[in-house]
Amino acid sequence: MLKNIKEYVIDRKAELREEIKHLPSTPVLAIVQVGNVEASNRYVKNKIKDCEEVGIIPKFIHFEETISEYDLLLKISQLNKDPSIHGFIVQMPLPKHIREAKIMEAITPLKDVDGFSRSAKVNPGTPQGIIDYLSYCEFDFTDKNAVIIGRSRIVGAPMARLLLNQNCNIRTIHSKTSPKNKRIALYGADLIISATGHRNTLVDDDCIFVNPECILVDVGININEEGKLCGDCENITAIEKTPVPGGCGLLTRTALLTSLVTLYKLQNTVNEN
Ligand code: NDP
Repeated sequence: MLKNIKEYVIDRKAELREEIKHLPSTPVLAIVQVGNVEASNRYVKNKIKDCEEVGIIPKFIHFEETISEYDLLLKISQLNKDPSIHGFIVQMPLPKHIREAKIMEAITPLKDVDGFSRSAKVNPGTPQGIIDYLSYCEFDFTDKNAVIIGRSRIVGAPMARLLLNQNCNIRTIHSKTSPKNKRIALYGADLIISATGHRNTLVDDDCIFVNPECILVDVGININEEGKLCGDCENITAIEKTPVPGGCGLLTRTALLTSLVTLYKLQNTVNEN
């Protein structure tokens, strides 16, 4: 049922490249990074590479870790007004003296390519990327029992909303859910999305009463004993699941490119017909 994620990404990027080629001008994504967190350097590098692959111009803007919240807000205000920038992201995490929520809310919804602000015009990348990928896998959402593990603002909560929009029946569980109610929630599941950031959030025993074709999307990123990346559900063998690494990270990155094209069109009112 699940298709190869790398092949999906290649196909989706080819579609985007074609679409971007026919836009009246080249979309520009600004990527703002503060400081030099190792993981952020890697994420930023990947985003720049993704943009170049599909024909988006990436504009990297770097600030020292000492930049004040005020100065960063000032820069965001400039980017909000700059007509040559179609969307921008502020790479998280930010240094402790800068309030992340304040920064996210300062980005104008029309350019909020991460979709994290309250009035964002696009959905957050991870849940949107999962919906796009499952659609590519021809997953029939209607009346399917979806269990979302986690309720964060950037993954779990929007995931539940998007799956509900696809006519799934939704059950959300979280850290306060008892083992008994977790098992009840998983009864008859057709789709499970795990986004907790905790290893072995699910084990095979939890999946005894899921439906036979149930699939698992493992969003979590953890480090195992060998120092390697692993998901929330690395030991699950009972049901089909997405890999970690090489899974939801790629879906999120691809959705980000789609979101930028969406914002470009909103700003330029491109006629689809
Ligand atoms: P948060 O820490 O913000 O949220 C985790 C959620 O999981 C919370 O709602 C928490 O419940 C719930 N939770 C924690 N432990 C359990 C448990 N044992 N059983 C059930 N629910 C539990 O994390 P994020 O949502 O930001 O990210 C989740 C994971 O996904 C992380 O590993 C992150 O690195 C990864 N991630 C991966 C992305 C990718 O592109 N591959 C993108 C974004 C995130 P409660 O609300 O009660 O505290």
